[in-house]
Amino acid sequence: MPTTTPALIADSSSSGFRQGTIEHRDLRPDDVLIDIAYAGICHSDIHTVREEWGPAHFPLVTGHEIAGTVAAVGEEVTRWSVGDRVGVGCLVDSCGECEMCLDDHENFCTKGAVGTYNSKGYDGEWTKGGYARQVVVGERFVLRVPDAIELSQAAPLLCAGITTYTPLVRWGAGPGTKVAVVGMGGLGHMGVKLAAAMGADVTVLSQSLSKEEDGRAFGASDYRATSDPQTFTDLRGAFDVILCTVSADLPVDQYLRLLKTFGTFVMVGLPENDQSVNFGSLISGDKAMTGSNIGGIKGTQEMLDFCAEHGIGATVEVISAGEVDAAYDKVVGSQVRYRYVIDTSTIIPAD
Ligand code: NAP
Ligand code: ZN
Repeated sequence: MPTTTPALIADSSSSGFRQGTIEHRDLRPDDVLIDIAYAGICHSDIHTVREEWGPAHFPLVTGHEIAGTVAAVGEEVTRWSVGDRVGVGCLVDSCGECEMCLDDHENFCTKGAVGTYNSKGYDGEWTKGGYARQVVVGERFVLRVPDAIELSQAAPLLCAGITTYTPLVRWGAGPGTKVAVVGMGGLGHMGVKLAAAMGADVTVLSQSLSKEEDGRAFGASDYRATSDPQTFTDLRGAFDVILCTVSADLPVDQYLRLLKTFGTFVMVGLPENDQSVNFGSLISGDKAMTGSNIGGIKGTQEMLDFCAEHGIGATVEVISAGEVDAAYDKVVGSQVRYRYVIDTSTIIPAD
């Protein structure tokens, strides 16, 4: 019998969420059934439901920041046992055989990685995400949540954590480097904590100074408002790496001027609209502009272990199922401090 589980379901881009039930597949031999404790609200969930990135498949259950415990395992599962503390991020399947998969970049699987929601699995079924009490996932895509991290604070690490960890490692954040994090929301606040733990000197570039105290508590040594033109004069040529997490339109060239010669601007935010760049901003100083897309499974486990070692979790506001629609508006309005996580035990189906 398929597993029936309470879930938050969106029926259209403007419907908001209702509390109903969904069915997960029968456990395959390599499947793990997870009792979800918390699911983070990522801005990507909002972009997807609201169809800001293109058409979505409804009914839709979003959520790719999942933390909970193993409830059951398929007969061939070797890595997980009932009761283990686990997480699931943005990926639930990949071919496992291509060059990218073999090199621990399942997120770039050449056959096409399967996303945790709004994605067609290799079996032809649409995936359903973490705004639910349970989820079924192949064991390769299950992560171990170290005991040192509370489940509510671990959930956002599965997307916001890995998405900021990957480029910080790749572009060499560490002692002696100056890193700017643009936008201090879900991804941004993790970027600040992780870069500081790696030993980098971190500056936050936020729209205003309203979150300065928090930014400094997360490990930033400087905090500037992008609404103040003086910021762009004072910090000209200051950074080795700029990690941009902004979900809206932004004046890219202004930020490129803040890089040192040979510096790198990494975009992880994915605004709805195309952005423009003047190539002169890159050529004057051999600057690089790049993107970064979540991370692979091995990197995600490494990130979780790094967080446990450094005492890092996400800073969260736990909300109930009925508060999700309002929370979406607050995220869009930059009012979140710093990630909403849904206590999935509060999902009570009306049907
Ligand atoms: P979030 O919590 O809403 O944070 C985005 C931050 O951007 C806000 O807190 C705000 O920071 C800043 N911002 C928002 N509107 C702005 C505006 N009009 N002008 C300037 N700054 C603005 O969102 P998130 O969950 O961190 O996600 C951020 C982006 O990353 C989204 O586009 C999401 O889809 C994308 N994402 C990408 C990946 C990937 O693999 N690359 C993974 C996950 C998410 P301040 O208030 O501090 O200015
Ligand atoms: Zn996400």
